[in-house]
Amino acid sequence: MTEPADTRPKREGGLERLLALRDEIKRAIDYRSFFLRYCPNPVRPSGTRFHALCPIPSHAHTGKGSPSLSVDTSRGLFQCFSRGEGGDAFKFYELMHDVSFAEAVRGMARELGLGAARRKPPLAQRAAPDEVEEIVAGFEPLAQERVEAICEKFLAVCRAEEQTEGLSYLARRGIDARTVRRACATYFPRRAYRRVMRRMLDAFPVQELQRSGLFNRRAHLTFYRHRLLFPFIIEGRAVYVQARTTAAGVEPRWHNMRGSVPALYNADSLAELPSGAVVYLVEGFTDTLTLLTHEFAAVGLVGAGGLKAEWLAPLARFRVVAALDPDGAGVRAAERYEEMFAARGMRLARLALPSDVNEFFRHHPAASVEFTLLTEAALE
Ligand SMILES: [Zn+2]
Repeated sequence: MTEPADTRPKREGGLERLLALRDEIKRAIDYRSFFLRYCPNPVRPSGTRFHALCPIPSHAHTGKGSPSLSVDTSRGLFQCFSRGEGGDAFKFYELMHDVSFAEAVRGMARELGLGAARRKPPLAQRAAPDEVEEIVAGFEPLAQERVEAICEKFLAVCRAEEQTEGLSYLARRGIDARTVRRACATYFPRRAYRRVMRRMLDAFPVQELQRSGLFNRRAHLTFYRHRLLFPFIIEGRAVYVQARTTAAGVEPRWHNMRGSVPALYNADSLAELPSGAVVYLVEGFTDTLTLLTHEFAAVGLVGAGGLKAEWLAPLARFRVVAALDPDGAGVRAAERYEEMFAARGMRLARLALPSDVNEFFRHHPAASVEFTLLTEAALE
């Protein structure tokens, strides 16, 4: 988008422009998240006030005394009782960064994405998920029913885009297209990013999208680098989406909506299984989908340590076999889960594979047969 020449920042009228920018900041800033960025461990945060250890460098606090900084988040004022210094957010920024008022205004404007003179940051940066403290200080979580509506729409919008890159990424890991379809795993290419974002904005108020974590404070879709989507489905409805990058070298590799993982991955498929069936408990989406590709029933944990006790009940009517990664974390988790199961009068059998499930199936020509034999031995 090009701007008409006459709206470009002018060199003259520096002070006027600075004060106008200051006023723009005052209208846009969320004081709570501004101050919390510098005081990550507030004490007694209540209503519009909190106390914290004063972080102002020139005060040279030992960090051992009682919290001397008091912040009024409704008016954006601070006061350090120990050094008797206080003021507004601009003053605070000056002290924190050891800069002049003008530099403080420009710095804060940049952080808020304000000002006529701003350069647009690259799309990847505008699409970045909000920082954790911004989320904490920000929007209330959304009602589950609205989250589901957003998930369902997001998947439908993405499914209308070209799926080839996502499918071939999974195919290279031995996961077939039929399994991808059954699991509703969905992809959209980078070039479709703006279109996907627009369709979501057409369908929901931006505040709802922000509260779900799908969009950030800059009103951008946060699924920018992470476009291979794995929905968690409960009773036929997508309730949560986790996504991974398909590119090498992108960290973190995973991104998800707000909130925590609501269930075991693929748990919804258990409903169709007869009692007494063998169900594998594995790590992650890839291992789960690998087993589904080979006609084994499986549910997935996000990370080795993620099993919650309330997820065990639906597993009670099956013969559950853990096939976690053979690394330290996987082994320790399997031992702990065995006890969790036992505490509920259930049994968790454990499979010892030489590698993770996906690798095992990719490198053993007769993996299905071997896997079945290992399972029988583990269940005896
Ligand atoms: Zn202080």
